[in-house]
Amino acid sequence: MRAVSALVDSHIHLYEYGDSWVKYCSGRYSMIAVSDDLTSSLETFDICRRCPHAVPAVGIHPWNAGRVSVEDSLKAIEKLVSEYNIYFLGEVGLDRIFHPETFEIQRKLFEGFLRIASEHRLGLSIHAAGAWRDVLDLLRKYEVAAVVFHWYTGPLELIDEIVNEGFFIGINPALFIQKKHEVVVEKAPIEAILTESDGPYRYRGLSLGPELLSDLLEKISQLKHVGVDEVFEQVARNFSKLVSSVRR
Ligand SMILES: [Zn+2]
Repeated sequence: MRAVSALVDSHIHLYEYGDSWVKYCSGRYSMIAVSDDLTSSLETFDICRRCPHAVPAVGIHPWNAGRVSVEDSLKAIEKLVSEYNIYFLGEVGLDRIFHPETFEIQRKLFEGFLRIASEHRLGLSIHAAGAWRDVLDLLRKYEVAAVVFHWYTGPLELIDEIVNEGFFIGINPALFIQKKHEVVVEKAPIEAILTESDGPYRYRGLSLGPELLSDLLEKISQLKHVGVDEVFEQVARNFSKLVSSVRR
């Protein structure tokens, strides 16, 4: 019965929808609303105050690392976390593919976020394009407990290690067209899968958003040879497990 749980969107840039974020807040979706910088962190927190179905995640996207002061950003985000009792950071991480030129700054920023996550017992929504191994090693170093590898397209041999740490693998509607993502679904155990939209984002002509989550479940169910209701329930359980492991 689908009435009991909602569709899981473990990674959505809700603030980017402007005022129309409201349409995703009917209870049809359970979301982690991620941010990209300090301004959007504040916006996201404000939206989530009015939307009980979205958990706010604050932070600086690795693509923005070259544009900010690492020290000031970390201070500001840690202040937000403490003052407003926020329990997720995101979208944070490392990117060797799209912004290799700022990698060292990204790493300083990300290590700062990991220290904050470790001290405040926070969950993380991670961007790790081309830096999957670097990120996993750092997560272990800082003993972070609750993690989603958003839109995982990393090495298949890393999946077992990620799952053994109790971390989650984010699966995106790009699955309809991205072969690399399809093999990830085949390899990852369903107990470690979380669905996400990454909306609003355009990927190879596909307009990513929560509207695609239902079809995404269908596609996962076909690839895993498991009934769609079972996938739906398992993903909902995975989401509850993730959120309840850090919620205070
Ligand atoms: Zn994103």
